[in-house]
Amino acid sequence: MRILFLSDLFPSYEISLRQALKERGLPECTMSDKKTEKVQEVEFIIYSPVKSNGRVIRHDFSTYINNKAVLSIYAGVEHLLNNSSLNCPLVKMVDDGLTSGMIEWCVAHTLRIHLGIDRHILGQDGIWRHKSKPPLAKDRRVGILGIGALGKPTAEALHFLGFDVVGWSRTAKNLTGIRCFHGSEGLKKVLRFAEILIVLLPLTKETFHILNEETLSVMQKDSAIINAGRGSLIDDIALLKSLKMGHILNATLDVFATEPLPPSHPYWVHPRVTVTPHIAADTSIESSSKVLARNIELILEGKKPVGLVDFKRGY
Ligand code: NAP
Repeated sequence: MRILFLSDLFPSYEISLRQALKERGLPECTMSDKKTEKVQEVEFIIYSPVKSNGRVIRHDFSTYINNKAVLSIYAGVEHLLNNSSLNCPLVKMVDDGLTSGMIEWCVAHTLRIHLGIDRHILGQDGIWRHKSKPPLAKDRRVGILGIGALGKPTAEALHFLGFDVVGWSRTAKNLTGIRCFHGSEGLKKVLRFAEILIVLLPLTKETFHILNEETLSVMQKDSAIINAGRGSLIDDIALLKSLKMGHILNATLDVFATEPLPPSHPYWVHPRVTVTPHIAADTSIESSSKVLARNIELILEGKKPVGLVDFKRGY
């Protein structure tokens, strides 16, 4: 079996993936990150985006005629979906390590906003402001756009802490203790409801700029946005305008239309925007190696891998 890494993470993964494949009893394999001359022998491609001059390198997958699948190290695969040379199954990463990271990051920022923690950390001016007490989670309404592999456990963790949580997805869902909505009417309900809105959608044709001038205006005045999905889910001009008008109170953004976020971008200096550099959740090498090995095994057995992308849906 030959595995090709179209990724600059090969040195980090080689030992761990070999170990994970061995644990599953899979045959010895050749692994490399060199676009080998034996392209016809490549059976699996492990992929993560590599940038050159600020742009993600676009590969020609058509030469790997015996490749069984492209396995992404990351959960977001939007940059692969418009690559017409990709004619084999594409599998996104669904990994416990990634999920735990996302839950922790979203819960941390939800609590930070809910408890008004910034006010105390950034405002130590000698004045004893003891009259304004933080509310309890049960009195805070949180909406989550996207209740998939990352959004669902995040919604459940917030519900466990007592938050009043609603979720929105493409298809109807039934989650214990969390009211779920779908469709455009459902979106409006969630936007109207949420005081804190967490965005954990994939970037697709349907979700591009889903938070725009119109949808932002549906949101409650003084509500907060936390975006850990993808930058282009938000129309930045509309968000900056809404912040300026005092409609949206603040935004915590981990992902941006252009990454790294250019130093001159207004988000960096906006007093009510928190920028984090796409660190909400990282794929854990150890746990994701096990996921890759398990998916290789499933594919070799002719079964459906976990995280199989539906090209029509776009995620
Ligand atoms: P997922 O399991 O595919 O879940 C996606 C969710 O979004 C599902 O609930 C899906 O609805 C919903 N959705 C998709 N299109 C929709 C639409 N048009 N209308 C309404 N709902 C829609 O994805 P995931 O693994 O949770 O990851 C979500 C995203 O997080 C990734 O695509 C990636 O962009 C981002 N991410 C960011 C980081 C970071 O560090 N910031 C790390 C990892 C991932 P259904 O349930 O009905 O299908």
